[in-house]
Amino acid sequence: MQNAALEATRLDAVYLAFRVASPSLLMALEGFKAIGLSGFNVTIPHKVAVMRHLDDLEEPAATIGAVNTVVNHNGRLVGHNTDGAGALAALRESGVEPSGKRVLLLGSGGAARALAFTMAETAENLTILNRTISKARTLAEDIRRITGTTSVTGGGANPSTLKNAAAQSNMVVNATSIGMNPNARETPIAKELLRPDMVVFDIVYSPLETRLLRDAGQVGAKCVNGLTMLVCQGAQAFKLWTRAEAPVSAMKEALTTVLKAKSDRGPD
Ligand code: NAP
Repeated sequence: MQNAALEATRLDAVYLAFRVASPSLLMALEGFKAIGLSGFNVTIPHKVAVMRHLDDLEEPAATIGAVNTVVNHNGRLVGHNTDGAGALAALRESGVEPSGKRVLLLGSGGAARALAFTMAETAENLTILNRTISKARTLAEDIRRITGTTSVTGGGANPSTLKNAAAQSNMVVNATSIGMNPNARETPIAKELLRPDMVVFDIVYSPLETRLLRDAGQVGAKCVNGLTMLVCQGAQAFKLWTRAEAPVSAMKEALTTVLKAKSDRGPD
């Protein structure tokens, strides 16, 4: 996706992936600085750990408490988070206006934190449910304390809390990794709890159509998959690194080709 963007904008640059083990994180960052990389993305499991090694954090990364994009300003590494804005842009691009929605957000990891802070700004109310109860409670408390929003609650995800929360919501967002390959048969919420008047947004992008989205489609709910969010958050990162507008359609086309081929092949 990023290489397609670089090619389309004729920038003399390349995007590469490196596997970095946790004990080597600082060393990798020093290496990136030493060779003068313009910037990089950070993914699982480094999104939080990377923060203490950066020179500065731009909002909303500091508030969210996770970084997915780093820009190298002449040797000063500055952390950003483009996940929340990417999610919002993806919903709007899919014809969904997130304002005023009663949102059930599943998960409390890095991506869920970004989405929760962003959605709390526009939603009528936000219920966060997660396997680890303490993480959902802490996230809801952080949002209430930092943003002053009162209509945010957090708790454990179990059949009873999911049933109650779904009944009171018209938008369900999966920000857990449940349903992601190779566990594509799993779903974070039972099909019986989904309704035609709901928007169901699954940020998992591999497979492209998760079991949750298949279930949601079958009950007639409006479905939004993780691909558009991946493109939108990547487009924001591209702009941060290059200061150029991202060629979104070239990025989406490249990503769709790769993910579709992956989906057709089945679980890795
Ligand atoms: P993370 O920080 O590791 O968080 C994972 C979340 O999933 C946690 O809430 C975790 O619950 C929950 N979870 C994982 N396995 C579970 C299970 N078996 N049962 C119940 N809950 C489970 O990961 P992340 O960075 O937030 O990413 C989450 C997903 O979003 C991944 O699939 C990732 O690929 C996707 N993502 C998509 C985009 C996009 O642009 N579309 C962007 C970012 C991430 P606990 O807290 O209890 O561990």
